[in-house]
Amino acid sequence: MYVNRVNKTAYCRQHFIEYFERKVKKTIRKYRMLGKTEHIVVAVSGGKDSMALLYFLWKMSKKNPGWRVSALIVDEGIRGYREYTIANFLRVNERLGVPYKIASFKEYFGMTLDEIVEEGRRRGLPYLPCAYCGVFRRYLLNKVAREMGGTVLATAHNMDDVVQTFIMNLAKDTLDKLARLAPVTGIASHEKFVRRIKPFIEVTEKETSIYALLNGLIEPEYHKCPYAEFNVRFKIRKMINELEEAQPGTKNSLLNSYLSIVRLLGEKRQVGEVKTCKICGEPSSHDVCRACQFRIGLGILEK
Ligand code: SF4
Ligand code: ZN
Repeated sequence: MYVNRVNKTAYCRQHFIEYFERKVKKTIRKYRMLGKTEHIVVAVSGGKDSMALLYFLWKMSKKNPGWRVSALIVDEGIRGYREYTIANFLRVNERLGVPYKIASFKEYFGMTLDEIVEEGRRRGLPYLPCAYCGVFRRYLLNKVAREMGGTVLATAHNMDDVVQTFIMNLAKDTLDKLARLAPVTGIASHEKFVRRIKPFIEVTEKETSIYALLNGLIEPEYHKCPYAEFNVRFKIRKMINELEEAQPGTKNSLLNSYLSIVRLLGEKRQVGEVKTCKICGEPSSHDVCRACQFRIGLGILEK
């Protein structure tokens, strides 16, 4: 049984699934995330959140004949971690039969993340593993989703992810990055930008985990990314969870604060900022995109 401490309601298995799906469908309608005809490319890591999103959209596509669902798995090349989550995706997908593509850092950038981290350290570059990982992953998701013919890219960011990133940006004084967290991004901002949606933005990590568990989507044995300890996100996650425990509804309030701020920042400002990378031709907020800047620094791209 699951007890939602915000709306003070208890749910059995069946009612929880109904509650969860109803809530996500409402989010999709509220933010007009999907039209009648879509090729939805789901960004999948093989972990519980992205498997829950893939399963949910696959289930919804059975009732919406205009929706086609594919999966895009980015293999960063993190030994002892990513091979297990990809195996979990393949295990679950035997049941779903969703068409998929695995795009690896090795194939597209010539190095695995493990090799990039090693090379970065050797060259004395100041970046943490998650910085390379996030930039290269975002880059590949957009590029490959477009190559797959996707009309929309769905990511599994939930309420916890968004409020954590919100606080991280506040703490780092990087408010310009907040627009990226919005429920829908990339509308008409660049011809090469695939529209992105976050259908799970109004459900919590806990609710997503329960949904994944109830539908048999969780990997049999949990594996953690070996670079996670370097990520400040995990400290912020702990802090927000403690606040939520003491005062249920804190995450909801933080999400609403974020949404109010992003409304004030305005979509127009974001549209004006998107340029085209001089090196690779992909959308970028600088003359040379972050991925190409990293590649130059790592010696895997000529200046
Ligand atoms: Fe990538 Fe960092 Fe997440 Fe590991 S913890 S998958 S390195 S972003
Ligand atoms: Zn570039």
